[in-house]
Amino acid sequence: MTTTPLPGRVFDALSREVALVCDASGTITWVDERAERVLSASVGQKLRALAAQGTEEKVDRLLTQARDERVEGWELILCRGGEKPTTFAFSVQPYEGVLVMMGSLVPEDYGNALGQVSSTLSELAALHRETERQQRELQRRADELQRLNKDLEESNRGVRSLHDALDEKAESLQRASEVKSRVVANVSHEFRTPLHSILGLSKVLLNPLNGQLSGEQEKQVHFIRTSAEALYELVNDLLDLSKAEAGKAVLRHTRFAAGEFLSALRGMMRPLLPPESSVELIFPEPQEELELETDQAKLSQVLRNLVSNAVKFTEKGSITVSVAPGPRDTVAFSVKDTGIGIPPEHQERIFEEFIQVETPLHRKVKGTGLGLSLARRLAEMLGGTLTVQSTPGQGSTFTLTVPRMHPEVKEMTGLSERAEKLDPARAPVLVLEDDRQTLFLYEKYLERSGFQVLPVRTVEDARRTLQRVRPAAMVLDVMLEGETSWNFLAEMKTKEQTRDIPILVVTITDREQKARALGADEFWLKPVEATQLLRKLGELANRGPVERILIIDDDEVHRYLLKQLLKDTPYALLEARGGREGLLMAREQAPHLIFLDFLLPDITAFDVLDEMKADPRTREIPVILQTAHELKEDERTRLGRETAAILAKHTLSREVAISRIRDALSKAGLGSRVEEREVRRG
Ligand code: ADP
Repeated sequence: MTTTPLPGRVFDALSREVALVCDASGTITWVDERAERVLSASVGQKLRALAAQGTEEKVDRLLTQARDERVEGWELILCRGGEKPTTFAFSVQPYEGVLVMMGSLVPEDYGNALGQVSSTLSELAALHRETERQQRELQRRADELQRLNKDLEESNRGVRSLHDALDEKAESLQRASEVKSRVVANVSHEFRTPLHSILGLSKVLLNPLNGQLSGEQEKQVHFIRTSAEALYELVNDLLDLSKAEAGKAVLRHTRFAAGEFLSALRGMMRPLLPPESSVELIFPEPQEELELETDQAKLSQVLRNLVSNAVKFTEKGSITVSVAPGPRDTVAFSVKDTGIGIPPEHQERIFEEFIQVETPLHRKVKGTGLGLSLARRLAEMLGGTLTVQSTPGQGSTFTLTVPRMHPEVKEMTGLSERAEKLDPARAPVLVLEDDRQTLFLYEKYLERSGFQVLPVRTVEDARRTLQRVRPAAMVLDVMLEGETSWNFLAEMKTKEQTRDIPILVVTITDREQKARALGADEFWLKPVEATQLLRKLGELANRGPVERILIIDDDEVHRYLLKQLLKDTPYALLEARGGREGLLMAREQAPHLIFLDFLLPDITAFDVLDEMKADPRTREIPVILQTAHELKEDERTRLGRETAAILAKHTLSREVAISRIRDALSKAGLGSRVEEREVRRG
């Protein structure tokens, strides 16, 4: 406990009491310091004068009552020094004719405060209720969101499974469409033969030299013939279309001038119009000479189709076939007629299969409804577009726009150029495949392997390439454009020189038995994958005895370097440390090739060569001479005659070594097997 007395001022400041004394008439006779300060009360003043206006009477009543007895808690509203009225609760004690008064300040806003508190409380309660309501609302929304999320997840799952189903559907449709194309192609093929016979026979029947028919019979045979012709045309269209769809048709590109091409077309189309026809066929001279490199036959097929349509649907006026340069290095051919035209709603549909315009005028003309869809397919195959503009009653203009140079021409040029140059470090693989894209794919597959693709698209090309190179293996497609490679396969496997070249048959028709019977080393259905092809080629090309190479060199380091150089090649290396040892090994082990060092410790390289010549066992073994020194002129001449190659020792590269080995072996009639197994990078 502290004993330090607090300064009176502090109590004073904290105190809420006032004290004063007044006489019986209510005149103030004494005030304490606080009453003086708080109420500005002073001696001699009437207590009444301190009362707030309208409350004076309450002062009087207090004075009257307190004269006789002690009064407690009498509230008076007093004005504090003229300020705002303040309520004081007074205790008054009469004492010897005066009244001693003690007042305590009553917080006048007590009621107010209570009111405020209660209104704040009710506001808070309302707020609380509102918050609760909002919380409930939030919860409701969260629930809703959760439900929505669940729904969404479910729909997502639904969409996903729908997607999968669609994928499956698309795949099966694709398969179905492939099957359809294949069936159509095969069936159409089969149709053509009997149709040929019918056409030929009806021609024979109609030839008066073979006996006269009666008028009625002749009419009947004519009917047979026109029906067969119509059928033949349909079959041809179907076949073309299915080929175009399967991307099977092989394009044959040539370089030609548009002007000459159109003159030839004109010659072909003129007979379509009888001499008395009221339709004129016009081929205006091109404004400038345009050169193209594309498939002329396909281009002609499209234009013939368009002209023959124009002839069919034009009764009078003209048909104009013209050519002009198109945008971005293209050429635009157009066939414009003054015929019946095509209603706008049909202008896109006529390019669909079996679609013909249904108007009385159109119906008069017969057709298959395949012509334009084939024409558009062909246009696409040529890398171009086929469009139509037409006004019914006025005529139509069909426009075929094709690139001057077919994209394939550019690509194929690159591919063949790459194949022209044989890479000495890679084993050549002849790929006979009429589909350009598959060829590119094979090239891509083998790009970084030890195999180099030699692409050929016809059997004839394959034969030509075989005269130049002996491949390590062959990959054959069977169904080629207009031919199959069955005979070629049989021929390869019968001929002595080619019999041991491994052949891989890759095709779309499941004829494994036939392929194997003809000697195929492997049979696969398309498509083939890169790893599958690489592994098989490595395997096939690696078969057969290993070629042995004898290194005769006293320098151990050099022998080691050469071995490193030929690492991962299929050659088996033998080593001899000198001329004598080398000769001995050459006789005993019959290597396929010898690497001979020019400077040997025991005998000279010339001695080795002479002795090898003298012995029938070693006479035919090719020798590659290696030297670390400049050779004298006469030495070089003589060695040049007697060895397969002369190589500088220290600058020898792997590529050069392999290519010299391959040359030497192939000259000695052994090349094939070595090439077959050159798989160092595969
Ligand atoms: P079709 O063998 O019936 O001629 P196409 O595919 O070549 O088959 O043509 C489809 C249809 O397009 C025709 O049947 C014809 O209704 C309409 N059509 C094609 N070319 C013309 C043209 N030049 N003028 C008017 N209609 C044409």
